Amino acid sequence: MPIHVIAADFLVTMNADNAVIENGAVAIDGDRIADVGRLDDVKSRHPASTIRRLPNRLIMPGLVNAHLHSGVLRGTAEGLPVWDWLRMFIDPMHRVLQPRDAEAAAWLCYAESVLSGTTTVVDMWRHMEGAGRAARQIGNRTVMVPYVGEHPDYDYFDHLDDTERLLETWHGKADGRVEVWVGLEHAFYSTEAGHERAISLAKKFKTGFHTHSNEAEVELAEMQRRYGCRSIQALEKLGLLDADRTLLAHCVWLDDSEIELMAKRGVAVAHNPASNMKLASGYAPVDRLRAAGVAVGIGTDGEKENNNLDMFEEMKFASLLTKFARLDAAALDSWDVMRMATIEGARAIGKDHEIGSLEVGKKADLIAVRTDTPRMTPLFGGTGGNLHHNLVHAVRGGDVDITMIDGRIVVESGELKTASMADLIAEVHAVVPGLFDRRSKWLAQNDKGAISPIGQVG
Ligand SMILES: [Zn+2]
Repeated sequence: MPIHVIAADFLVTMNADNAVIENGAVAIDGDRIADVGRLDDVKSRHPASTIRRLPNRLIMPGLVNAHLHSGVLRGTAEGLPVWDWLRMFIDPMHRVLQPRDAEAAAWLCYAESVLSGTTTVVDMWRHMEGAGRAARQIGNRTVMVPYVGEHPDYDYFDHLDDTERLLETWHGKADGRVEVWVGLEHAFYSTEAGHERAISLAKKFKTGFHTHSNEAEVELAEMQRRYGCRSIQALEKLGLLDADRTLLAHCVWLDDSEIELMAKRGVAVAHNPASNMKLASGYAPVDRLRAAGVAVGIGTDGEKENNNLDMFEEMKFASLLTKFARLDAAALDSWDVMRMATIEGARAIGKDHEIGSLEVGKKADLIAVRTDTPRMTPLFGGTGGNLHHNLVHAVRGGDVDITMIDGRIVVESGELKTASMADLIAEVHAVVPGLFDRRSKWLAQNDKGAISPIGQVG
């Protein structure tokens, strides 16, 4: 296969030095990066290659969304704190969700992701064969984590049987772009037998474990009541930190002993600033986690708690929330935020040897961002330049011009090339009335979901 060279005004490599190469180029051989450097140098090293020059663009690694739920509840689940929100809006939706609804949601969310520059998602969702089909066709990389409840009171979620089936049928598929991890919605949505099976499955398939943790104070109190300790210590006691890789979403309410334990056990975190603000959960101490050596990626969380999947916007939230919480305008520098959304997110999911930076030998997952926009003006590269600040604080996902994954262009001129956006939107509109109707009926028959999950499980 011939080598293709793609070149732009700036190449933001996100390598160990955060090197930015002016008039930079990436040589692509199949699905991998064969060379990175100044265009002149790359050209001379690959004289037979085809060259595509992108004027008024910068090229950077595709973004890693470390925690997402596909979904179709956007704008319909507002104004409640997290546990009431789960009880009133989300868990009743899970009770009535059907595979066709779930698949429509995954297509929509993966399309939204690649259009805004995200090339890898960690998606905790339901009936995920449909999500596998969506990723295979749209072309994104996805870590599929079934939303599992393994307890009689939470039997309306997926089950570990579904996870095992998905591991057998989808793990490593779509040219390796689809991975399957083991997940639990929450540790206490499962019995201890479920915890054991979850981790033995993760070990058997040498894959990761993902759950929500330390999101709200009410959850901490419940974990304390059940297990007599802080949440992270409880996860350790229950064996839930024993998989090859562990990724915890939120991690808002952490004490020093938990941060120390997470660093010691190599536990990674998905930081969800928009969701943590919108559901009034609190501020995750990402600065302290990173200082302790914990890998911290950034995740949008779902369409229902964000309400979009724009990782550029999420980078801005990550930056501003830390500055605001610490009352320190210098906290969490823009390069740090960029790293969290790229190489550190890749490390959080154990894929930093494959993705997250533009370096020779890695997968050709990259995006081209427009620089001829008001949001990018003025633009200065080099030491002391403003390029990284613009990317974190000014750029929006809609400024992404090209998204390439595995060397294949899935978005060109800001348009999805691998599926019909109009068809995906029409399918969502076709399924949501039924989903909402079934949920309303369930709520009407069940006292508006007034039974709190907290305190109901032994
Ligand atoms: Zn979540």
